[in-house]
Amino acid sequence: MTNFVTASARSNLVNLLDFDRKGLAAFFVEMGEKPFRATQLLKWIYQEDVTDFEQMTNLSKSLRAYLQEHCTITAPEMLVEQVASDGTRKWAIEMSGGNRVETVFIPEEKRGTLCVSSQIGCALACTFCSTAKQGFNRNLSVSEIIGQLYVAQQRLGPEKRITNVVMMGMGEPLLNFDNVVAAMNLMMDDFTFGLSKRRVTVSTSGIVPAMYRLNQVCDVSMAVSLHAANDELRNELVPINQKYPLSELMSACREYAKQGPRKYITFEYVMLDGINDSIQDARLLTRLLKKVPSKINLIPFNPFPNSAYQCSSAETIARFKDVLHQAGIVTTIRKTRGDDIDAACGQLVGKVKDKSRRHLKLQAMGSSHVG
Ligand code: SAH
Repeated sequence: MTNFVTASARSNLVNLLDFDRKGLAAFFVEMGEKPFRATQLLKWIYQEDVTDFEQMTNLSKSLRAYLQEHCTITAPEMLVEQVASDGTRKWAIEMSGGNRVETVFIPEEKRGTLCVSSQIGCALACTFCSTAKQGFNRNLSVSEIIGQLYVAQQRLGPEKRITNVVMMGMGEPLLNFDNVVAAMNLMMDDFTFGLSKRRVTVSTSGIVPAMYRLNQVCDVSMAVSLHAANDELRNELVPINQKYPLSELMSACREYAKQGPRKYITFEYVMLDGINDSIQDARLLTRLLKKVPSKINLIPFNPFPNSAYQCSSAETIARFKDVLHQAGIVTTIRKTRGDDIDAACGQLVGKVKDKSRRHLKLQAMGSSHVG
């Protein structure tokens, strides 16, 4: 579907999609070239859609020959496309080692959002998420992350622009910190996609030390997958909470909101019938968020085979929303998109060669519920 050689065919070459502008400038300086070659190259790749070094006419002949011999511009390959009745598209994208991740494009009237994966599978074991059930294989490289935008935009064509990116696909982005930061900086670069920092959102289950580090190196909007307002329940639903409990998470959120481009944190809260959706839960949530500038996004639970939960009823979600609203918290209910092709939140599975052996543990337990 793309005009690129496959990654495995040229794996001994340096893939230039693995560099952000800073990295590329350092690469050129090391070979005795001027750092501005980096912006020239980024423009060719991302704005002119040129991957043949011979066509990069503002580079010297000798530099072109060097790049031809030692480098490649290789994006991952788009294998399968599914289009939902609401126009949402899901692509299976082939990464090296026989793994696939899923990337989703959500068209709206005034914007187009790409939901990007950061890892093959996920090492966290959130009990309501189907990606978690796949186990974990490895982190994606910078080229495999930026490559998702690259092949998606090529496939969509100039008429359908990707205006927003949410790091809400497979994986925990802050556990693949360096590559995710480089890829996000790259997508906001004026010489590539030039996305606004308000339109790039990293979503995390709450890797507290990485949230503080992110503040220093990358200016993007932050979403936090909260899902419970007390430690006891969050320990079960989002087990990483046992390591970074709510008090620490809220402090990190407060700090991030001070500097982040949006000055607030978006909290994601999946609505699980009879688990976290009572009026009391809503009140607890308003108390927890008192000291953090916040918006809340309620996500109706999306079922998947063998999932142990059900989605709260529409009335319950509306009542829950009212409590938050009355406490002055801006609350939205996430519209489920692309569910007829399993492209909705928590439904992305790809093809993961599990190295964590989680699927074996699950089989042994005879259940899909890990706590
Ligand atoms: N690991 C990151 C990125 C994943 S984002 C994170 O946890 O934030 C995907 C979002 O969808 C997260 O908020 C996740 O908690 C939520 N989610 C996972 N499974 C879901 C499901 N079955 N139904 C609805 N939302 C789900």
